[in-house]
Amino acid sequence: MNHIVIFGECMIELVTQSAHQLAKSFAGDTFNTAVYLKRCAPVLEVHYLTAIGSDEQSDELYHFMQQEKLGVDLVHRSASRHLGLYMVHTDNTGERSFTYWRSESAATQTLHSVDGELPDTDLFYLSGISVAILDDTQRHMLVDKLTALRQRGCKIVFDLNYRPALWKSPDHARQWADRFYAMADIALSGVDDHAQLYAHQSVSEIVTHLSRFSIDEQVIKHGAYGVVVNTQSDSWSVPVEPVETVIDTTAAGDAFNAGYLAARGKGADPVSAAKYAAKVAAFVIGYPGAITPPEKALPRL
Ligand code: ADP
Repeated sequence: MNHIVIFGECMIELVTQSAHQLAKSFAGDTFNTAVYLKRCAPVLEVHYLTAIGSDEQSDELYHFMQQEKLGVDLVHRSASRHLGLYMVHTDNTGERSFTYWRSESAATQTLHSVDGELPDTDLFYLSGISVAILDDTQRHMLVDKLTALRQRGCKIVFDLNYRPALWKSPDHARQWADRFYAMADIALSGVDDHAQLYAHQSVSEIVTHLSRFSIDEQVIKHGAYGVVVNTQSDSWSVPVEPVETVIDTTAAGDAFNAGYLAARGKGADPVSAAKYAAKVAAFVIGYPGAITPPEKALPRL
């Protein structure tokens, strides 16, 4: 597993510093995973599939991707649309709130820019957010393209990442989530997302739901409570060392996914991969924002 395609949207992130000051960076769930995956395992070829604009902000993001050594051959440039954007506001009690401007972004049209089949790859990673930002026509196109990729031997990795605001209704979201679970070889899902979308009350309810599909590896993340890893033949509970001082949990799950895939890509077994992934996530929640400063080295694989 050397060649990986990660599909989704990277947005401009604006964080309120004070009444008149905003700090700008770039982030998005699958993009965070792409950056951390490449940082964890530089030998892997990580390509990001998305659409961005042709404006200055998009150029900046493009250069950032290159700096992070991501493959940019699948980054489509729209002449008329721009990057999505979100703002993070922290109130007096430390509670964060997010406001999004993304419905018209270039990335919402990505599949319309992909001519013909997707290029062959060992692993294709997407999340519920990657699917949620598309219209139904593009969702069907994506299913067809992934079906063809799978027939050519590609493994599909899916993280539910449920965001209710991006869906018409929970029913609609469930239909599509199950469609992608049905194609997934590896599921990397969070307990909170399953609780919100399917009203699952426990890990065992999640496992029962996932057992309807033929997923080879189910990795169920439950914050500091640990991780459950299920393969077709075995099941493990992997404890997670609680982080005492959590600075910002943004991108915890994304970083975990990156650590897991990096370790699996380098031949680790699922349990060792989950242990390493938890270390990467623990590191990331010790810093503010989605992406840690590049000079801060991630835990070694
Ligand atoms: P998601 O962000 O996808 O909902 P989680 O909240 O389960 O997923 O967090 C992802 C991973 O981050 C967890 O599996 C765990 O390894 C790590 N993590 C999250 N919160 C903590 C914490 N308080 N202490 C230690 N690790 C944590």
